[in-house]
Amino acid sequence: MGKTQNYDHMKLIREYAGGHAKLIGLGRCLAGVSAILTLIPYYELWKIIRIAVNGDDTDKITMYAWISVALIVGALLVYIVALLCTHIAAFRVQANMRSSLMRRIITLPLGVFDEDGTGKIRRIVNDSTAATETYIAHTLADKAVAAVTPIGLIVLVLAFNWKIGLLCMIPAVIGFICMMSMMGKGMQQKMKEYQDALETMSSEATEYVRGIPVVKTFGQTVHSFKRFKACIDSYGKWTTDYTLVLRWPMMGFMTCINAIFAFIVIAAYIITKDGIANADILNVMYYIIITPLVTIALTKLAYSGEAEMNLIDALKRVDKIMEIEPLKESASGKKPADCGITLNNVTYRYKDATRDAVSDVSLTIKPGEHVALVGPSGSGKTTLAELIVRFFDVTSGEIVIGGVNVKDMSSAELMKQVSFVFQDSRLIKKSILDNVRMSKPEASEAEVLEALKKAQCMDIIDKLPEGIHTVIGEKGTYLSGGEQQRITIARAVLKDAPILILDEATAFADPDNETKVQEAFEELSKGKTLIMIAHRLSTVMNADKIFVMDDGRCTEAGSHDELMKAGGLYKRMFDEYTRSVEWKVGA
Ligand code: ADP
Repeated sequence: MGKTQNYDHMKLIREYAGGHAKLIGLGRCLAGVSAILTLIPYYELWKIIRIAVNGDDTDKITMYAWISVALIVGALLVYIVALLCTHIAAFRVQANMRSSLMRRIITLPLGVFDEDGTGKIRRIVNDSTAATETYIAHTLADKAVAAVTPIGLIVLVLAFNWKIGLLCMIPAVIGFICMMSMMGKGMQQKMKEYQDALETMSSEATEYVRGIPVVKTFGQTVHSFKRFKACIDSYGKWTTDYTLVLRWPMMGFMTCINAIFAFIVIAAYIITKDGIANADILNVMYYIIITPLVTIALTKLAYSGEAEMNLIDALKRVDKIMEIEPLKESASGKKPADCGITLNNVTYRYKDATRDAVSDVSLTIKPGEHVALVGPSGSGKTTLAELIVRFFDVTSGEIVIGGVNVKDMSSAELMKQVSFVFQDSRLIKKSILDNVRMSKPEASEAEVLEALKKAQCMDIIDKLPEGIHTVIGEKGTYLSGGEQQRITIARAVLKDAPILILDEATAFADPDNETKVQEAFEELSKGKTLIMIAHRLSTVMNADKIFVMDDGRCTEAGSHDELMKAGGLYKRMFDEYTRSVEWKVGA
């Protein structure tokens, strides 16, 4: 339907169905057969009405009635088998789509899974595959019925009295034209816009719910969530505009398909003008019974066209994930000689961004050195750290660990070398033991406990009902942000990788937690190469080296004393920081 011909959705569906593709064809054929079987009883009905009007052969009424019942039951059974075939194929397609998606997703760079990306991916894996399943299971059978029924109906309508038949066809044809004009140009694009608008609204709604505490605390109104309000407003405007575009064709379609009765009345008036014959009564009664079928068939056709557009939109969204370039895995199996890190002219630009997030950065970190990345917010610290663990691959330049380019290492080898604790490191809904063990599945319970101890987590474990076996998020078990971060540190302790990348916590900075996190970091970084993304300058003074980032570039490097003497950005930031610490309430 509409302008969707260029996209061969059935070919894609058949590919996903594999060996089950034949079931789809069989299901469609059976649905067509069932549609024909459903129409034949109307001929039997015509014969019954003829007997009733003429008054002869009355003994045959029962036989015709039974034939009708048998045909309807037969049609129903065939349709059930058709649905069975399409359902089996649909479930197979959905399962295959989901497993292909998941297989692809695990090869994607970690950077794809930021907060926004995760929501979109989840929606595609769940909703787009479910839309495909519904289309194959139900709509394909309905489409076969909707395609066969009008042909059968034209035969039935024209066979008995072509004049009434032709009159009945007039509104049906106009209704069909109205429907095609609705499906016409731009409908597929509109469907995409509609789905995009829903997607934006859903992610903004999540953001809004997360922000409710802020709104309440500061007594703000809903208008403070401008983006959420703007996307609801634009969705509202889009829907209204689109409804207005469809107003006339939709009114035309609904009026025509429901006005077929009126045309029968006109036809009845014309053919009975010169006196009523039994045949005329028979035909008029017959057409009164059969014409609602035309309405039903056209409505089904209209809805199956819409479902097809939804399906194409869903398939295109799945394609978008399948088209994301996976992280290239190296087969060379090179192992780094030590845990020193060198960055040579590293530049990175996010997809669709207009400027580089990291620009021509070169630096060297010796094995065992503790370094800090500092700089204003948005200067590229996190991006630089993420590039080292291949959240993304550099746009240009190279990152070398122990003499080996990270691109020439297998990702398993890279992960063996590096542990990272970023601010949004997550816990999953499993026991604390399982959560910590994720970094080293073969670890014993005693080893996990030792890691938890080193990560200063024992106060958390002690207050939980089942200790390390407590399942997070169940039975009201709630861990604060800071507590969750300490558990993720325990993960890194257990992994015991020689290189550590730590993102200093600012979000959960209550004094007690902060002290514990700092102690855990200290314990964790003993004897390791450490890169700390520092948001506060109090923690960087003892670092072996400090790299100062400014607008994507590394503009200064050296120890605290050297940088203070140099009197550049670091000194300015440190002076400002000292002033802010000296500020006191009521001072
Ligand atoms: P920092 O950690 O120093 O605060 P970031 O590395 O987070 O800085 O950001 C550096 C720049 O890259 C900023 O301009 C930021 O807006 C941009 N940026 C960060 N993440 C993304 C992303 N996922 N997509 C596009 N731009 C991003």
